[in-house]
Amino acid sequence: MEITKHLFLNFSILIILLFFYLICSDKYKKILTSKPVTILLFICLLWVCVQFSYNPIPFSRYDLRIIPLVIGGLYLGIGPILVLALLIIRSFFGWDMGLAETSLLYGPLAIVFWFMAPWFWKQSSSRRILIAVLMGMGLSVLTIGGMGLFHPYTNWFDAWFAFLVIPPLGIGIVSYSLEFIKNNNQMRLQLIKTEKLKAVEQMGAAISHEIRNPLTTATGFVQLLQDDYLPRHKRREYLALVKDELHSAERVIQDYLTFAKPSLEVFEELNVKSEMKQIIKILQPLANQNSVEINTDFSVIGFIKGDQQIFRQCFINVIKNAIESMPTGGYLSLKTEYDHDYVTVTVKDTGVGMTKEQIDRLGEPFYSTKGKNGTGLGMMVVYSIVRAMNGWIRVESEVDAGTTFHFHFPSIRPMRNYMKAENQ
Ligand code: ADP
Ligand code: MG
Repeated sequence: MEITKHLFLNFSILIILLFFYLICSDKYKKILTSKPVTILLFICLLWVCVQFSYNPIPFSRYDLRIIPLVIGGLYLGIGPILVLALLIIRSFFGWDMGLAETSLLYGPLAIVFWFMAPWFWKQSSSRRILIAVLMGMGLSVLTIGGMGLFHPYTNWFDAWFAFLVIPPLGIGIVSYSLEFIKNNNQMRLQLIKTEKLKAVEQMGAAISHEIRNPLTTATGFVQLLQDDYLPRHKRREYLALVKDELHSAERVIQDYLTFAKPSLEVFEELNVKSEMKQIIKILQPLANQNSVEINTDFSVIGFIKGDQQIFRQCFINVIKNAIESMPTGGYLSLKTEYDHDYVTVTVKDTGVGMTKEQIDRLGEPFYSTKGKNGTGLGMMVVYSIVRAMNGWIRVESEVDAGTTFHFHFPSIRPMRNYMKAENQ
């Protein structure tokens, strides 16, 4: 069973190489899936096959070149290039009968591949696998035919077994994997598209609802204001209400815009500590209203890159939620930590907490448990801002115990703000 043994060795090397290629191509997709690189890969595979081939007599080499040829020829449409490469590689191993035999068998195959590739892609996924496997089998039979001509003393059971099982099996496995990956990618893209459409649809509906409500109210008050005999204090009161309503409509639009495109064109160095202090200043009145006590523990340094306005909006949203989760008072702890790679901001409350399902839905557009008082846009904005700043969020929560948000942002070495921070 010499041939079988050799082909199996060949087979394992091919599979190992392809496996590593698959793993790496996930990471460096752009480079590794470009045409020149894939052509190079298939030429390497051909070389590996010829290098580790079985050569019972000096001028003949038996190996699994059929696998890269069929896969490359059919799936990538590079059959002629591969055949040429094969002939060049083979010529390095000697100008002999084997090379002539190879040219005779694979030369015409180059033309077949050339015409077949476009037709091949019009077939269904399962038919493509079948065609590739059948083609492998055909080539195997032709190889054995050639063997019959030049090696009358071959162990025929070994030869038939090796060539009828291993190349078609290899082609089957590789083409099945290719089809699987392709279908998977297509499905993923489809899913993303439908999710996006759904989000836009929901967005449109809810935004118009959120904006229409305050506008209708404002219009109502403006109509009342048209009354010439309206007392002065009433007039003032109505105007204040109109202003409030317009503000809330503006907030919805602002949230939506921030979500759609967190404008991070202005990248500045942010001193996390002083930013957090500013944010607390803004939210202190709301905390007082809800009898929430704020504790802080800020690391001395900690700089990140981002837009100040957007960063503040992000934490205002988070801290507002935390305060709102403690309607009867509680403790809010804000902490920043710094290490070489990341700045971590922790926001911890002793509020109502969330169930696992609620945590999973955080950041979904219009997900709110606050009924009329909530827009369900706050966390969505937070997630999109943090993503735009290359950060990520971890949430821990327990019902009736409280919630902790951990925000991680890549830290930077400050240039101009360092001295300022030291002095604070
Ligand atoms: P809104 O505040 O308008 O409801 P958000 O997007 O800001 O919308 O929040 C979505 C939901 O997430 C809230 O309705 C609430 O159920 C939940 N949530 C967010 N933060 C907290 C928190 N700190 N504690 C408990 N629940 C929270
Ligand atoms: Mg909120």
